[in-house]
Amino acid sequence: MQISFQQVEYRYSYKTPFEKLALEDINLSIPSGQFLAVIGHTGSGKSTLLQHLNALLKPTSGVVNVGDYAISPDKKTKSLKPIRQKVGIVFQFPEHQLFEETVLKDICYGPMNFGVSEEVAKERAKELIVKVGLTEEVLEKSPFDLSGGQMRRVAIAGVLAMNPDVIVLDEPTAGLDPRGQREIMDMFHDLHKEKGLTTILVTHSMEDAAHYANEIVIMQKGRLKKKGTPQDIFSNPEELFEMGLDVPDVVRFQFKLEERIGRKLGVTCLTIEE
Ligand code: ADP
Repeated sequence: MQISFQQVEYRYSYKTPFEKLALEDINLSIPSGQFLAVIGHTGSGKSTLLQHLNALLKPTSGVVNVGDYAISPDKKTKSLKPIRQKVGIVFQFPEHQLFEETVLKDICYGPMNFGVSEEVAKERAKELIVKVGLTEEVLEKSPFDLSGGQMRRVAIAGVLAMNPDVIVLDEPTAGLDPRGQREIMDMFHDLHKEKGLTTILVTHSMEDAAHYANEIVIMQKGRLKKKGTPQDIFSNPEELFEMGLDVPDVVRFQFKLEERIGRKLGVTCLTIEE
């Protein structure tokens, strides 16, 4: 599903004395199947941008096209339900949104609310609980008896259970230990490869952007400052330093090495760190 932003501007508290410009002149095209990383300082507009992807926010000017849907300020968008199904957002600390008595009910809640039969929803839950690295026994437990990392995985399974075409991840590994972080990112990497799921990752981790994304955008003060492949973005670290972004040595080392040997190393270099 193709996504595009055309001349998008967003102002919080629009037309009030508290108006705050958060996005300006955003033009961005995200082809189906892309793994896009969005990086930038706190306050640069990343979260605001991603909330436009399933119409949680509507632009105050410009248009966001999500598949057949055009989300713009003047038009009453038809029912938003299909967009919410097609674009799944994993917010920061998604485990805070768990609420059902059992993990199974929690994962099935979304799809059943969107008209999927209980039987099909349960089948999806069984498949997904394994996909996110847990076992079927977990399905009968209360989500609140699980560890933080396990709860995070259950919440992610709940988003995936909607069978989205696009998955949007807002710092999905925040607060996890390094091993948990890599397991979760590898899972999204596999999903992207297996299902061609368009994946949009907001991250502070340059390593994750460098290793998992095929395209990176840098946000700065509400504007899209730069867009390119990881190679384009990281081959000029001085420019990133000027934007106040730090490029860890391991990323630079990997790109130098890849340039020298003339092929991609994929995610392998990350393992050296641990
Ligand atoms: P990031 O995700 O990159 O940290 P945000 O999209 O959260 O950035 O914020 C972009 C700008 O919008 C910042 O200046 C922030 O202070 C402002 N902002 C974010 N949320 C609100 C809000 N609910 N009301 C007013 N201003 C906001």
